[in-house]
Amino acid sequence: MASRNPRDRCVAVLGAGIMGCCLALFLARRGIRVNLFDARDRPMAGASRWNEGKIHLGYLYGADASLATARHLLPGGLRFKALAEQLIEQALDDYVTTSDDMFLIHRDSVVDAARARAYYRAVDELIQHSAGTGDYLCDLRGRTTRELSPGELAAIADPALVTAGFGVPERSVQTHWLADRLCDAVDAEPGIEQRMGERVTAVHRCPRPDKHWEVVTAAGRQGFDCVVNALWEGRLAIDATVGLPRPTEWSARYRLALFARTPQALAVPSAVLGIGPFGDVKNYNGRDFYLSWYPAGLAYTSDGELPGGEDAVPAFDDAAVARATRDGLSAAFGWVDDILAAGAQTRVGGGWVVAQGRGPLSSATSTLHRRDAFGVSRLDTYYSVDTGKYSTAPWLAHSLAQEIAGG
Ligand SMILES: Cc1cc2nc3c(=O)[nH]c(=O)nc-3n(C[C@H](O)[C@H](O)[C@H](O)COP(=O)(O)OP(=O)(O)OC[C@H]3O[C@@H](n4cnc5c(N)ncnc54)[C@H](O)[C@@H]3O)c2cc1C
Repeated sequence: MASRNPRDRCVAVLGAGIMGCCLALFLARRGIRVNLFDARDRPMAGASRWNEGKIHLGYLYGADASLATARHLLPGGLRFKALAEQLIEQALDDYVTTSDDMFLIHRDSVVDAARARAYYRAVDELIQHSAGTGDYLCDLRGRTTRELSPGELAAIADPALVTAGFGVPERSVQTHWLADRLCDAVDAEPGIEQRMGERVTAVHRCPRPDKHWEVVTAAGRQGFDCVVNALWEGRLAIDATVGLPRPTEWSARYRLALFARTPQALAVPSAVLGIGPFGDVKNYNGRDFYLSWYPAGLAYTSDGELPGGEDAVPAFDDAAVARATRDGLSAAFGWVDDILAAGAQTRVGGGWVVAQGRGPLSSATSTLHRRDAFGVSRLDTYYSVDTGKYSTAPWLAHSLAQEIAGG
């Protein structure tokens, strides 16, 4: 495609989550015409709106001692702020957690405290030897993990449940705020034609000589020079219509969490209880919180069963999820009750997590503890993107836009 004038090309981007929106914006700003398809009425309505927004540096994947996951996640984490700010033309600073995450090792963690300590040191080293440490959401130059004293640990978590704790220089962004800004940016971009409310059912080779691929929806079929499949939960079904093979191992989970806004600011930490199927709390600005207790929020899980579209979103009882989330978290972190005290506005939200790997997180042998296989597959000018993580989407989108635009 590199030899043609960008303005002559039309690219179909399937899926208007963070991956599809970032890619559509990068392409349109290079003069390429984009049709952005999504089954929902508005962009950014799925997993990319309702997640905790951890901008990964690799610390979470302590069960992957090879550091392959950390290495795969790090470049996207370091570039997230600059690329996202370029797209939305606004600073992220007011919508980012302001202090280090407290990583706490549960007594039933799949990795014990000694191995976790060694892992965090290794990730510290990796970061310090990477380019762009000054570009992250906080300045990482010279910053390392700090082990909590027994007194500090006891102030955060029930000492009977945790074996060690570490302050980790990782940050999270408020995803629904960024979702609204990305919607604004897509709305303002004349080079993007929004095809909302259109469910894609197949992609085929195009019989027309001047186009390569045909995108099929209930409304009909249309030819494009290039197609990018960023459909996340719907991706593998459409790849199958093109003839791209499925990964040998993958799983689908529908995960829910509790989003809370308190009437007054609270001075409580952002904390992650790991490593395994436990939970976390994000304090973005003292009033806006993300609360997740993994078993309470797991509405669907399957090793190798594809969800069949929007109507496959599992039914769940908001009140029951909220109650179980609170119970699970407050057993470890008593201060969670302060967040959910009278007057807090709460909402249960979530989305699909489709990942290469399978097995319960409570098992050290689950291949979900390793996430170094996501990225882009290609068949001529058809690209399929396994976003992998929210935090890696702008970086993946940026490099894919460069490839498609031929520069
Ligand atoms: C509870 C939870 C917490 C998470 N926490 C983090 C975190 O802290 N950090 C992190 O990096 N990642 C996190 N993730 C993962 C992250 O949310 C995803 O990796 C990311 O949002 C995927 O982006 P996407 O654009 O590929 O998919 P999506 O945002 O899901 O977008 C895909 C779009 O495709 C549309 N679609 C699907 N099929 C079709 C079809 N056939 N036709 C038309 N449209 C279709 C959907 O409607 C959707 O809008 C979390 C996920 C969940 C659920």
